[in-house]
Amino acid sequence: MNLVLETLNQEITRRRALWITAFAFAGLVAILSRRGNRSDTVAASANGEEVTLVQFNDAGEKLETARVRKVIHPDAEWRKLLSSEQYYVTRHASTDMAFTGTYYETHDPGIFRCICCANALFSSEAKFDSGTGWPSFWAPIAEDNVRKRSDMSLLMQRVEVLCTRCDAHLGHVFDDGPPPTNLRYCINESSLHFISRKA
Ligand SMILES: [Zn+2]
Repeated sequence: MNLVLETLNQEITRRRALWITAFAFAGLVAILSRRGNRSDTVAASANGEEVTLVQFNDAGEKLETARVRKVIHPDAEWRKLLSSEQYYVTRHASTDMAFTGTYYETHDPGIFRCICCANALFSSEAKFDSGTGWPSFWAPIAEDNVRKRSDMSLLMQRVEVLCTRCDAHLGHVFDDGPPPTNLRYCINESSLHFISRKA
């Protein structure tokens, strides 16, 4: 009888050990898979959501409209990638001093890309001399490539212009521009990289 009980106890202990092992294994799998999910999420946010952009080559020729992932970097990474002026303007909505740089008076044919992500933003074909000391355009190269949002800073109601692909602050748009749109995109040189078509 004692031998039977002892064998039964051993069997229960063995089964319990098996259950504990199984639970521990399941727990470990759950922790590892959660970790996997977490790193996936971080990777996804680093690549960003998809946006629609019209693509252009450096000659300013329109290519296809494509769905591309947004360019997202932590603030410290942007700081490393950009000059001080570029960083404060694009990532913290600072403004270049008027009549600084050279783009405000450049009328060479070419394309203006985002300094942060190379998204095509403006063409020299829509550039005009606004007299403000900032590069000025009456339209973006493609409406999809920039986005706008209300800006109530500095006690003014303005419309901020941002890069669709990386959310860089570009400048503001006003309704006192020339035809055909009567808009004036007032853009910071620090947000732009000009690729001239002049030989
Ligand atoms: Zn950009």
